[in-house]
Amino acid sequence: MTHKTWLLLSIVFSLIQLSMAQVPTIKWKIHDLNRPNPPIITAGTASTPETAGTAPSDAVVLFDGKDLSKWVDKDGKPAAWKVESGYMEVVAKTGNISTRDSFGDCQLHVEFAEPTPAHGESQERGNSGVFLMSTYEIQVLDSYENKTYADGQAGAVYGQYPPLVNASRPPGQWQTYDIIFHRPRFADGKLQHPARITLLHNGVLVQDNVELTGPTAHGERPAYKPGAEKAPLQLQDHGDPLRFRNIWIRELHEE
Ligand code: MG
Repeated sequence: MTHKTWLLLSIVFSLIQLSMAQVPTIKWKIHDLNRPNPPIITAGTASTPETAGTAPSDAVVLFDGKDLSKWVDKDGKPAAWKVESGYMEVVAKTGNISTRDSFGDCQLHVEFAEPTPAHGESQERGNSGVFLMSTYEIQVLDSYENKTYADGQAGAVYGQYPPLVNASRPPGQWQTYDIIFHRPRFADGKLQHPARITLLHNGVLVQDNVELTGPTAHGERPAYKPGAEKAPLQLQDHGDPLRFRNIWIRELHEE
């Protein structure tokens, strides 16, 4: 077989494979009246830079501005961050805080305000983070007129994906993260599907269902390791007095 014929055959073969893409099947007939209707919930209200909104009725509220009862420090003791009127604030050197409960696939809403006046440069300005399953960090940073490496700015999946746009508000103003997270899937100790993240920053799509390379680390991209299906959510103490408010989560039914 000549090289040309071989090339042609492999192109034809690839085209056949492409045309065989799996079409999803739906076990219900179209407009099937026996198909269960979705649960009825009461939607929440949106936040503005000034006022916190409310959570949907089926969400677990992790922080409502009053107390840190759902959060612990790294030793499992009550979280030592400060709670003021309607928000919590990072207290430097007290460490990351984690939820008492564990979560896997989820929709998560978090609001934060960067310290004002702005202080420090690059990664030293208003740094914190939202760690899904205590493992995968969505960067929180004051990225308003603050240059840093692309995969380390606000809205980045740290060390992996920069946000699609920089939608940061100035320090002092409340900002929102709406996150849709799917944990990685393992079978027989092997990776079946990587973790996936969709993120809206201040209502703007900045991560579009990206597939993560593995856990977050500084200066490296370590490989996945099989682990628990659920783990606590974590907020990072990077030494800067970030504020958080209105944190809620909805667990997603696993497919
Ligand atoms: Mg961080």
